[in-house]
Amino acid sequence: MRKPFVAGNWKMHGSKAFVTELNQGLKQQTNSMTEIDIAVCPPALYISQTIAELEGSTVKVGAQNIAEEASQGAFTGEISIAMLKDMQCDYVILGHSERRAIYGETDEQIANKVALALEAGITPIFCVGETLEERESGTMESVIAMQLDAVISKVGVEEFEKIVIAYEPVWAIGTGVTASPEQAQEVHAFIRDKLARLNRAVAEKVIIQYGGSVKPNNAAELFAQADIDGGLIGGASLNADDFAAICQAAQDVASA
Ligand code: PEP
Repeated sequence: MRKPFVAGNWKMHGSKAFVTELNQGLKQQTNSMTEIDIAVCPPALYISQTIAELEGSTVKVGAQNIAEEASQGAFTGEISIAMLKDMQCDYVILGHSERRAIYGETDEQIANKVALALEAGITPIFCVGETLEERESGTMESVIAMQLDAVISKVGVEEFEKIVIAYEPVWAIGTGVTASPEQAQEVHAFIRDKLARLNRAVAEKVIIQYGGSVKPNNAAELFAQADIDGGLIGGASLNADDFAAICQAAQDVASA
């Protein structure tokens, strides 16, 4: 039985006051949700504030990216995995479609970063997903397979026990258009099946989140799908009530 995992990606949003208010709301509303794992991924500047403010809660903290270099050096503006470890971060989002599209991150760079996170003992939330054009032209499965293959060949399929996969169709991110539960389930099953061909036991265990316009009103139906193990939440994670309602939907599925 896989434990659902809901993570919030705050992207480049927040201020000291906003973060405090959000954290207070999260702490109050998520404490009884013991059947699921929960994390939030603030902008790097607010990670230590968030860790301090969520102390004593079940909500873990992650980052949104790391440098390709492991520890330190002359890399102006970058943040290393060693620094996240030092801050006691539990997760890092890697390969988000915004990093792929806006900053040109390649499958190879993302695979290198996943390897660094694993070496440091920080769980990567590894994002895959197709654009609308790729879906409509019938290349969706090969695109997702390529994204997965880059990481499989870098770290080996066995390591996927320690990796969270987030399936995020690019056309559903921040658009208000979510994949239907059936569309999402189809891709989640494809991902799990691809891993199962290499290692069935690992495929059964790997957490595959869905991400893309998850809201309180569609979370329950998505999370009820057989291969959907929670979600990676963007916009709705900036509102404590909405994020808690989405977590509750995962908690309800887990305890049903
Ligand atoms: C995301 O950016 O990972 C995401 C899923 O965003 P949203 O929920 O806003 O679509």
